[in-house]
Amino acid sequence: MQYRKDKNGEDISVLGFGCMRFVKNGNKIDMKLAEEQIMHAIEQGINYYDTAYIYSGSEVAIGEIFEKNHVREKIKIATKLPQYLVKNIDTAEKIFREECKRLRTDYIDYYLMHMLGDIDNWNKLKALGIEAWIAEKKASGKIRNIGFSFHGTTAQFTPLIDAYDWDFCQIQYNYLDEHTQAGRAGLQYAARKGIPVIIMEPLRGGRLVNQLPGKAKACIAADEKGRSAATLAFQWLYNQPEVTCVLSGMNSIEMIDENIKTATETTVGSLTKADEALIGEIRDSILSDVKVGCTGCGYCQPCPFGVSIPQAFQCYNMIALEGKGRARREYMQTTVLRANPGSASQCTKCGKCEQHCPQHLEIRKELEKARKVLETPVYKFVRKAVKWLRLYH
Ligand code: SF4
Ligand code: SF4
Repeated sequence: MQYRKDKNGEDISVLGFGCMRFVKNGNKIDMKLAEEQIMHAIEQGINYYDTAYIYSGSEVAIGEIFEKNHVREKIKIATKLPQYLVKNIDTAEKIFREECKRLRTDYIDYYLMHMLGDIDNWNKLKALGIEAWIAEKKASGKIRNIGFSFHGTTAQFTPLIDAYDWDFCQIQYNYLDEHTQAGRAGLQYAARKGIPVIIMEPLRGGRLVNQLPGKAKACIAADEKGRSAATLAFQWLYNQPEVTCVLSGMNSIEMIDENIKTATETTVGSLTKADEALIGEIRDSILSDVKVGCTGCGYCQPCPFGVSIPQAFQCYNMIALEGKGRARREYMQTTVLRANPGSASQCTKCGKCEQHCPQHLEIRKELEKARKVLETPVYKFVRKAVKWLRLYH
């Protein structure tokens, strides 16, 4: 296993264990299997275990496994505060204590504000006094590193990075998201500021392995080095020095071993020009199906009416790659479940954004198409419910 450093100079394994996707029997995690996999991962040197308050049963399961096997001091736990549920500091405190109880620990190594979407989100938490709460937790040693996880655009990411003295952050990043989400620009920005970056969704929830178009599969089959789709995706990440740790939701020993092999063998700068060309070819074949040529640059932002334009296009494009269900979920998460909603339907068609788009996109027309597919009756209901909760709670 290779290790990269956190902000305090401690080693983090370049491969982290994402604890969201354990195998289940009905509604319950298969504890025998989960224990076998986690203990195998620990023996092979993986020391970073990522969970969250909202990952059903996950905190309880890993807490039990770590305690039973006496490995707490060998590993690092990352878990998350569902900040969107926090109405006051007492709620944050209550959730934090519950998480420690579930995890059977009195400290959390890496604590994240879960799904911090933009600076407004953070300002809302600041107004509740979250900074003083974090300071107290860090001073008492109950939180060792504080960070946030992020789904949004580069333009939303950089102000968040600048807004606080973060110890680390977590972004969605893979070869398909090189210029969407926080993107390469966001990753490099954080790294320049000395903030370690944890990567989630290296395989886009498995889509870069299981749902590749025929042309992409043919490119991989023709690889002279015989690498799998997953290996290529991980190698693309490990090749970049700004990447600290890559999370993978592993649920079989074979998968763990394949990922460990890649994590052990791939060093910064080890991809050749031919490797990069191969990954570029795979990416192009996937992207040839997308609907709008938005690069996520953010030059069209801010919209005076609050529309998250790159976000809407990113989700609209996701339909071709990952299906309507996932695209709609992502759209809901990133345009409604945030401090200020940014739905496509807020567009008044003023046209200001189109003057700034380097791709010369017909933004108004494309937004209208995106709205029709993404804003379902369920979306509208949730939007109303969230608005009501904000007004009266
Ligand atoms: S056209 Fe729509 S999206 Fe563009 S700036 Fe105006 S309101 Fe915002
Ligand atoms: S300016 Fe154009 S390409 Fe850039 S994010 Fe906006 S719509 Fe997309």
